Amino acid sequence: MKMANPLSPTKKTSMQRQSREIKIGSVKLGGQNPILVQSMAATRTQDIEGTRRQIAILEKAGADLIRIAIDSQKDVEALKILREEAKTPLVVDLQESYRLAEFLAPLVQKIRYNPGHLHHHEKGKSKQDKVAWIVEKVAPHNCALRVGVNCGSVDPEWLERYPKDHEKAIVSSAIENCEILDKLGFKNYLVSLKDSDPNRVVAVNKRFHLLCPSVPLHLGVTEAGLPPEGVIKTRVAFEQLLSQGIGDTVRVSLTVPFEEKGQEIYVARGIIEDIQNGRFRSVSYYENAGLNIISCPSCSRVENEKFVELAQKVKDMAVFAKSHKLTIAIMGCRVNGPGETDDADLGLWCSPTFVNLKRKDEFLGRFSYEDILPRLKTEIKRLIT
Ligand code: SF4
Repeated sequence: MKMANPLSPTKKTSMQRQSREIKIGSVKLGGQNPILVQSMAATRTQDIEGTRRQIAILEKAGADLIRIAIDSQKDVEALKILREEAKTPLVVDLQESYRLAEFLAPLVQKIRYNPGHLHHHEKGKSKQDKVAWIVEKVAPHNCALRVGVNCGSVDPEWLERYPKDHEKAIVSSAIENCEILDKLGFKNYLVSLKDSDPNRVVAVNKRFHLLCPSVPLHLGVTEAGLPPEGVIKTRVAFEQLLSQGIGDTVRVSLTVPFEEKGQEIYVARGIIEDIQNGRFRSVSYYENAGLNIISCPSCSRVENEKFVELAQKVKDMAVFAKSHKLTIAIMGCRVNGPGETDDADLGLWCSPTFVNLKRKDEFLGRFSYEDILPRLKTEIKRLIT
């Protein structure tokens, strides 16, 4: 049985929102509807048994929406099986292959596309034409869209235009896509603007909301990392935003073992309930005074299940450097790993049998899952002494 959503519209709350209502299948999102809590399956989608188990875990925890990553036609075939059994609306992350929207729209209630990824496909085609193509495929099925802008993969055109103002580039890319969708007469969409830095999540969402108050927002701190730090970073962002009526659905991204994915839902519900009851536990600005470890929550792209264990081992090993202002990023795959580690002092991303390591922009090599820890320790020492 699902837990009751603590933000019942009948409860008294100061979190009055200005967003318009959209529909994710039969579920209403935005307006004064309850804030929806969602999460994502961490397994490879084609691993039907594993993904089925992820869906069951998230349903048991009370997820309102469950997201699945789709990268290929084989994933689409797996989704056909999974959606027949799922009791909760399934939504999809269109990773690199936006053309799959055609096959997904009849199967799911919402599709996320990333404007940064869209830029790299069919370069001869304008982004207006690409978005129009997606709308043409999803609209007949009443499928909603999420414009998912991510700090690690912002549309390069906007980065070039605002090289010194990353936040402006993120917000401008989101607004550009809203304008394209509006011109097409497609209103069943929401937006997300995510970063691993909770302060930036607050800044870009506030900036976007000021300019587009009626557009529903999906909130999240990407790569928040392992608990408890990952929970703290998320709480800092959500407290600043939800208390201002900004945010209509949330996803907490934690690096936890697959079997513990339900934690993301429980943590989200706990934060929402605290805010509703005026229990604020965080500061208004997240001061990253010492060691900052960021790590992704893993998804169907994770290349080795040892990733979660590796993140925990890095955290334990690096404790000697905890008072040093240093960022270590640990990512689960080669697709997003290189980009998502760009802002870190030391970046690691997984491959099936080895881990890649870089120091700032410099690639240091590939190391086995056993050898990476001593090498990382050496690099940390080099940076702090
Ligand atoms: S870095 Fe890779 S494995 Fe981790 S969440 Fe992102 S896409 Fe998934």
